[in-house]
Amino acid sequence: MGKMALHWQILLGMGLGIALGLTAAQFAGGSALVVDWIKPFGTIFINLLKLIAIPLIVVSLIKGVSDLKDMTQLSKMGIRTFGLYILTTVLAVTVGLVLVNLIQPGNFIGEDTRQEMLTSFGGDVQLKVDEANQTQEGRGPLQPLVEVVPENIVGSMADNGNMLQVIFFSLLVGVAMISLPGERVAAFKKVSDSANEIVLRIVDLIMLAAPYGVFALMAALIAEAPSFDVFKALGIYALTVVLGLAFLTYGVYSFFIFFLGKMNPVDFFRALIPAQLLAFSTSSSAATLPVTMDCVEKNLKVRKDVLSFVLPIGATVNMDGTCLYQGVAAVFIAQVLGYDLTLAQQLSVIVTATLASIGAAAVPGAGILMLVIVLESIGVSPAGIALIYAIDRPLDMLRTVVNVSGDSMVALVMDRTTSSGDTPELPADTPVEL
Ligand code: ASP
Repeated sequence: MGKMALHWQILLGMGLGIALGLTAAQFAGGSALVVDWIKPFGTIFINLLKLIAIPLIVVSLIKGVSDLKDMTQLSKMGIRTFGLYILTTVLAVTVGLVLVNLIQPGNFIGEDTRQEMLTSFGGDVQLKVDEANQTQEGRGPLQPLVEVVPENIVGSMADNGNMLQVIFFSLLVGVAMISLPGERVAAFKKVSDSANEIVLRIVDLIMLAAPYGVFALMAALIAEAPSFDVFKALGIYALTVVLGLAFLTYGVYSFFIFFLGKMNPVDFFRALIPAQLLAFSTSSSAATLPVTMDCVEKNLKVRKDVLSFVLPIGATVNMDGTCLYQGVAAVFIAQVLGYDLTLAQQLSVIVTATLASIGAAAVPGAGILMLVIVLESIGVSPAGIALIYAIDRPLDMLRTVVNVSGDSMVALVMDRTTSSGDTPELPADTPVEL
């Protein structure tokens, strides 16, 4: 596969993986063979990506922040980034709500399908509901904020679910570095700069395995997929989600990319293809993060200080695709179960879905877990999640692509609308005012 561009190699891997999965499903024991002998290579590939995610966040954030010459630059960037994240998330769920109310996919579900789904997936869903309720138990409104500040950084780094804590610590290191005289941190700066080079090289090396990794992931996914009949029954619901995701990405994002990012949206999406393909195959923004950072830096030419701040935070808190999906799914479930949602309830979906998407971890299936909270907030039984359970994985793959694209769009906009702190270089022994 030497000369082919990476995204073509990945696409080829995906195509061959799907073909293998479909073929294996035709033979008795074929799917089990794929799960036993092919799937592990997909798991190894995802592990490699996860393995490098935390070191990548640490070194690139330290480098990004310590390269800044001005503290106000960082706070300006923080406020604008969060503003854009909230704005796009609210837009996303609004698009979802408008579409689900227009299309009314709940009306296309017959009584038979409804009963079948509720009984087939009731058990799995109960486990999810219990899990979601357990994590929410006894949590005050400010608990998410408390959890951003770790009491032990080694503990935080030991769990990929604690990315925000790692980001917080790396920011602290970066801020301390720029507030000290240059000569006193010069040695550490050199070390962190070359650590950054090494980590980026590891990402490149891992990407050499991407075509084989996605091949294994897709083959296993197809081999383990439920029967096609399920997809047919939920077709209109899935179509509503897909339409919403497409409108958000190619309509709303293109607007931001063109007017604020000052870039042709076609070029933007072309630059992002490797990250999008990986998001699709892994269903995890966190696992895709190393590649997203790579594409945004090399192809979109976004500054290091911007991307190393915007992307890791975005992967964990900015999930537009997930939020849109939660809006559609919540109203769809209410429609099928015969709840008549008032305008106030739909507005509360905007708020809870926004918060739920911020709280969702960047891993497969996190969105459906947080849907429990959205449903409970509008008084709809979360057992209704059984209705959409069967088709969740393909939709998860698509919404992850949107999540990753949304983060990259914000990185581009932030790059093009802020300057790189072009204040004159300070003498090495001058501490920077905080
Ligand atoms: N899989 C999604 C992500 O990692 C989250 C979700 O919607 O389940 O971005």
